[in-house]
Amino acid sequence: MPTVKYQKGDTVMGRWPGSSLYYEVKVLGFKPRTQLYTVIYKDGTELELKEQDIKSVSGFQTRSRSRSRSPSRRRSRSRSPARTTRRSSSRTTSAPSSRRDSKLKDTVEVRLSPLVSAAAALILSDHLIFVVVERLIERLKDAGKNNGRLNLTKLTSLVSLLCLFLPPGAYFWLLFLPAWVLFVILQVNLKDPSLVNAPPPLPPLDAFWDAQALGFVILWILFQALLYILPVGKLSEGMPLRSGERLKYRTNGFFAIVVSAIVAGIAVHQGVDLTYVHSHFLQLATATFIISVLLSIYLYVRSRYASSAELALGGNSGNVVYDFFKGHELNPRIKNFDLKFFCEMRPGLIGWCLINFAMALAEMKQQNLDAPSYAMILVNLFQLLYVVDGLWNEEAILTTMDLMHDGFGFMLAFGDLVWVPFTYTLQAYYLVSHPNSLSLPAVTAIVILKLIGFYIFRKSNSEKNAFRRNPSDPKLSHLKTIPTATGKSLLVSGWWGVVRHPNYLGDLIMALAWSLPCGFSHLLPWYYMIYFIILLVHRDSRDMSECRRKYGSAWDEYCRTVRYRIIPRVY
Ligand code: NDP
Repeated sequence: MPTVKYQKGDTVMGRWPGSSLYYEVKVLGFKPRTQLYTVIYKDGTELELKEQDIKSVSGFQTRSRSRSRSPSRRRSRSRSPARTTRRSSSRTTSAPSSRRDSKLKDTVEVRLSPLVSAAAALILSDHLIFVVVERLIERLKDAGKNNGRLNLTKLTSLVSLLCLFLPPGAYFWLLFLPAWVLFVILQVNLKDPSLVNAPPPLPPLDAFWDAQALGFVILWILFQALLYILPVGKLSEGMPLRSGERLKYRTNGFFAIVVSAIVAGIAVHQGVDLTYVHSHFLQLATATFIISVLLSIYLYVRSRYASSAELALGGNSGNVVYDFFKGHELNPRIKNFDLKFFCEMRPGLIGWCLINFAMALAEMKQQNLDAPSYAMILVNLFQLLYVVDGLWNEEAILTTMDLMHDGFGFMLAFGDLVWVPFTYTLQAYYLVSHPNSLSLPAVTAIVILKLIGFYIFRKSNSEKNAFRRNPSDPKLSHLKTIPTATGKSLLVSGWWGVVRHPNYLGDLIMALAWSLPCGFSHLLPWYYMIYFIILLVHRDSRDMSECRRKYGSAWDEYCRTVRYRIIPRVY
């Protein structure tokens, strides 16, 4: 029988997941089946660690006690994110700060080489899913013990867990997502479309396929790729990777959409019939789906050859289907061509606007109008503003979860290339054959709603982005922050002091403004709103678990200070 190196109750040094930092932990137990030690950190965080991630206290090269007692001195020697914390902590209210200081003063830190750090990240990734699952189950049990019922938060965690973390969830999503896109596309063409209708009969197989449609999709992607690689626009730096390296991204998305709009305008002027997009919507979606599957296969295969430092922390379960779905490699690149960044920001996003424009032309043709309806104009302008804003502030995507944490696999490839352009355009698609007239006061009210949502969305995203890029930015000096053991700080006032995801709140208000122009006759144009609530509630829950893992007690403190997640006083 193999001997267990550390015993229950031993005080040892445990690596903090995804970092090269070691903290004092107590061993709670050892599981022979998984060969993992359950340990508890001083802030109460329980994690499972492999033996390689544990060191005995005596074998540690510690700093002298007086130096380790001072977090500010400790941090002042570190890289820039740590310097941030020093500054931030001085801005935070004194009571929590002193509490944190007392927690931090006992921590001992060593810096390991990037190679060891990357290896640790890989080891962690092997059992990350299972750690998350176990922690969630424990929390659910606690909730049951404490008050005999599950609250919404716990329930959301459970749904997230069932939907995304377990490999069977990946099988489900792999089948469900394409089926759902097909379902909604077929519904729109019905006279009486509804999300609660039984699925319409499947069209014959050859109705899905059109070689010309595939040709157009390939041309579109190549055209966007060409614009992406042109040496126009800024080269922006991404957030530091686990290795400390920062990748460079060509952020010329605004240029790409302007050129695309000019080319589309010239094409229409030259007599190209863009209503082809409306009449061949299903075939275009099928062609794009095929491309997203081929791309995902390529991504999965190449990820098998990627070094451990290049892999995402999720998506390394060893289950082929799960890893194919979730994405294995964090930033797959062909030379400097970043596949994830390109797919996130270009063909699907700009394609969304092109499809909307084509739907406006189709509406005029089908309804015999000289100009698109108010409803169609609102949907087109609102969504165009959303995309243009995203491309204008393209750098901000470099600090989002997709870019920083998620591997690139089917989930994102399908989402970026198929889901966004072929379901986010449903409102415009719906309006082509289901006109909805709007009065001027209704138009005004919807525009005001959209602007309010946009203001909240843009301001909150910019605030966090500016803070993450330069925490010492004088424009943010009035904001309160909480330092964390990782060296990064958390904003606790300003937009991020109102709710924990103010950007989601703004996005949801905008989603409401996109659906309202379509009226209340059918549920289908409200599909985006419903889907978006589910998406953002799930995303928020996923982010909460991730931040809890990263920031431990500092995150708990943030959650105690900022109690609501998305909607003040409601949720
Ligand atoms: P966020 O931009 O909200 O990023 C979450 C991350 O922000 C956290 O993981 C954490 O990362 C950091 N963070 C959280 N709280 C704080 C705080 N108090 N202070 C400082 N940093 C904090 O998440 P998303 O990537 O999900 O969303 C980005 C935008 O994209 C949102 O506006 C969202 O609505 C939109 N979106 C739109 C979708 C669509 O289909 N239309 C789909 C998904 C998102 P760290 O600490 O590591 O920096």
